[in-house]
Amino acid sequence: MKIEENRSLKSFNTFGMDARAKYFSEIRSVEEFRELAGDSRFPDEKKLILGGGSNVLLTGDFDGWVVKNAIPGVTVVSETENKVIVKAGAGEDWHALVMWCIEKNYGGLENLSLIPGLTGAAPIQNIGAYGAEQKDVFYELEAVEIRSCEAVKFSARDCVFGYRDSVFKNKFKGQYLITSVSFKLAKLSSPKTSYRFRTEYGDLRRILDEMKVQALSLKAVSDAICQIRRAKLPDPKELGNAGSFFKNPSISQAQFQALASKYPKMPHYPQPEGTVKVPAGWLIETCGWKGKTVGRAGSHKTQALVLVNYGGAIAQEILELSGAISRSVKEKFAIELSPEVNIV
Ligand SMILES: Cc1cc2nc3c(=O)[nH]c(=O)nc-3n(C[C@H](O)[C@H](O)[C@H](O)COP(=O)(O)OP(=O)(O)OC[C@H]3O[C@@H](n4cnc5c(N)ncnc54)[C@H](O)[C@@H]3O)c2cc1C
Repeated sequence: MKIEENRSLKSFNTFGMDARAKYFSEIRSVEEFRELAGDSRFPDEKKLILGGGSNVLLTGDFDGWVVKNAIPGVTVVSETENKVIVKAGAGEDWHALVMWCIEKNYGGLENLSLIPGLTGAAPIQNIGAYGAEQKDVFYELEAVEIRSCEAVKFSARDCVFGYRDSVFKNKFKGQYLITSVSFKLAKLSSPKTSYRFRTEYGDLRRILDEMKVQALSLKAVSDAICQIRRAKLPDPKELGNAGSFFKNPSISQAQFQALASKYPKMPHYPQPEGTVKVPAGWLIETCGWKGKTVGRAGSHKTQALVLVNYGGAIAQEILELSGAISRSVKEKFAIELSPEVNIV
């Protein structure tokens, strides 16, 4: 356990931004965090918790203490005949956790296969994909308040999960270090379990048919999703990116009707509260940005919503591109895009 000074964060963020941290430590337990937080250099320093760095855009050097979460451990904490509570350390790789659950035949996380990052960040933006969100099976999380180092538990209700949103992006932004997350999963090995696979979303059903899957299984659903994601999304190891740069906006019924008469092919998803969600990728593509590059940054050629670093781009270039995209979408559709990525 050590404190490094002036540490490059380039390998700790998937956008590949070459920012530096004034202080940097990797922590493997709550005790290590508490011990370091008590260091005389830290009380007044700004603090940034980093997981896999796959949902951040570092806009410059971080003038404070960067804590890289590496708290390990996956355990079954309790089980009944057909349910199991799995608790994972915040530093566990998310996809590895999903694979572990699939191997054990625990259902609930398979649609979230291959999402980059660590488990501790999953509740922060309530990660979601292919018709599922982590909140669907979230049980509780453990955290430490950064200022007081006090341990606290959060229930699903406390987390106020929303679409790519939670209390940790709002009221409690930057105030807690999440140390573990527990999920309540279905035991598919039990004859008492009736399980509904979620295969309605996007191309999933078609790919499962192409794969000639006879009987659905957690692994088959996960394999199909991995196949779609690998074909569609740039691998951050090859091309710096942080996934979807913007959230999908929701608009009023009235605005939707007006736009739909002009753009009858506009994809749309009515929401329970009466608004209509429109894919940001479609809006960006319709504005002509798909595959466009501006200097060393660009909108990806197969997924317009993903902004990429083609090599050596600085955060300012990504921000200028995202600003230009937002302005065109605003001009053409009168829709305001908001970033999904955390701008630090
Ligand atoms: C190619 C690609 C595809 C993606 N696809 C999806 C997708 O399908 N669905 C989706 O929802 N997301 C997706 N993402 C975004 C990203 O993978 C998720 O948001 C992921 O949960 C981020 O995890 P991380 O560990 O990398 O978090 P980081 O980027 O390190 O951190 C994200 C935010 O959470 C905070 N944070 C991280 N860990 C903790 C902790 N333990 N305690 C307190 N705060 C913490 C950070 O301070 C930061 O504000 C994608 C990203 C990429 C690059």
